[in-house]
Amino acid sequence: MADEKREALAPVAEEASACQKCPLAETRTLVVFGEGNPDSPLLIVGEGPGEREDLTGRPFVGRAGALLDECLAENRITRKHVYITNIVKCRACSSENSRKRNRPPSTAETNACRPYLDRQLEIIRPRVVLCLGSPSANALIHTNFRIMQERGRFFEVPFADYAIAALHPAYILRQGGQAFRDVRATLVADIGAARLKVVEIRKAEAKTLF
Ligand code: SF4
Repeated sequence: MADEKREALAPVAEEASACQKCPLAETRTLVVFGEGNPDSPLLIVGEGPGEREDLTGRPFVGRAGALLDECLAENRITRKHVYITNIVKCRACSSENSRKRNRPPSTAETNACRPYLDRQLEIIRPRVVLCLGSPSANALIHTNFRIMQERGRFFEVPFADYAIAALHPAYILRQGGQAFRDVRATLVADIGAARLKVVEIRKAEAKTLF
């Protein structure tokens, strides 16, 4: 099944790699389509590539990615267990004093890129989607998502059994001291909740078989 899904994703990734549907095509280095196990029951969706991701073509490979890996590992999850992507596949940035700075993707950019994510969701058919940060939760759970109040809760969604949101690792890295430890703990807990939900779904299905 994983091979079939990989084969189905390949032409979508190929199409995205040459995409010119929004202005982010002009400033990107590489399209960051997503990677991991397409047969995973858990799909992780962030906001968009940053500098390191743009240079490598891989999602979550900078400091935020290292933090995500740590928090996954605390739940006994590795990248081989999950599929990771973003709501936009190209880096959104602005130029300041000839330096590129990350910026949130615009609604028009997010909308232009959405068909790629929709096709990923259709092919992967995850059981649980974990949205990292409010732009991802806004796009996939509901608009005006209040990340501080609504993270850690499960929502019924049409493209998976459930979606849940967690704080984005890049936001967590901007905190210091006890605040850092507190918000980091929420990411570990939210990943753990997503993992447990997958286990619950599978247990419930196993019961209905016998
Ligand atoms: S962000 Fe998405 S829609 Fe825009 S150019 Fe990149 S792949 Fe195409």
